Amino acid sequence: MQRIASKCSALGLFAVVNTAQALTIFTCEPEWAALSKQLAPEAKVFSATHAYQDPHYIEARPSLISKLAQADIAICSGAGLEAGWLPALQQRASNRHVVDGAAGMLYLSQFVETIDKQETAFFSTEHVHPEGNPHFHLDPERVAKLAVVISQRLQAIDTDSSQQYQQALTRWQSNWQQSMQAWQRQAVALKGRPVVVQHTGFSYLINWTGMDVIADLEPEPGVPPTMAHAQSLVAATRQKQPVAILTNWYQNDRAAGWLSDKTGVKHLNLPATVDLKGDINNLRSLFDHLLSQLRAAD
Ligand SMILES: [Zn+2]
Repeated sequence: MQRIASKCSALGLFAVVNTAQALTIFTCEPEWAALSKQLAPEAKVFSATHAYQDPHYIEARPSLISKLAQADIAICSGAGLEAGWLPALQQRASNRHVVDGAAGMLYLSQFVETIDKQETAFFSTEHVHPEGNPHFHLDPERVAKLAVVISQRLQAIDTDSSQQYQQALTRWQSNWQQSMQAWQRQAVALKGRPVVVQHTGFSYLINWTGMDVIADLEPEPGVPPTMAHAQSLVAATRQKQPVAILTNWYQNDRAAGWLSDKTGVKHLNLPATVDLKGDINNLRSLFDHLLSQLRAAD
């Protein structure tokens, strides 16, 4: 952020002191941190969760409160994904920039259509998605729309640097379009192919490729797999021979391993998001990785 302080000296000389200061961006999930870093290369970016953590459930730790207290903007998926912890962080951080309704509090779900909206008002667990599936970072087209949303918001709250944000966005968009063409070719090969999942974490990617979910290891959305339920999936899994049984890095994959042993179908444990400290540290390499893993399993 460029804060320009104008000072008039006693001699009437006019000096402009340019105290350029980068934005501090707090993100709820690492995918938005990775995207923000590309859209605001100068910014200080922090993610509240990482690829080995379930973003539905984290603790409102003091270190997170202090990070949110320092933020100029917070970028979160929304749609209830952070309902268990973000309100507590906001309350304790008491930072007016990131309270609900402020320009600095960006819930991305407000700018994309979510899938799997629940019809019923009654839920047996809290780990469901009443406002639709919030794992929309795994749809490359929604990501492209959200890059614009994020960039526009950055430009609005940091007007002095808006040109830099616009340039970064244009650069990002041209790279993304190039990657999209490669991903679309891979998606064509996966279209219609069956797959077994555990939770709806990969739903957007599966929909985008046109793959077909034949079973979910969760007996009900948000309910951890049980042996009885896994047993009930053996016959269909053997018969339909899916590409893979998918789990992600933060899930307990015991049931998936068991079903794989029983049926001979490959168990693929994939990152649900970017790993900021690893090789798959941006959304582009995440899609490259996920699609090549799925193609290799098929
Ligand atoms: Zn979920």
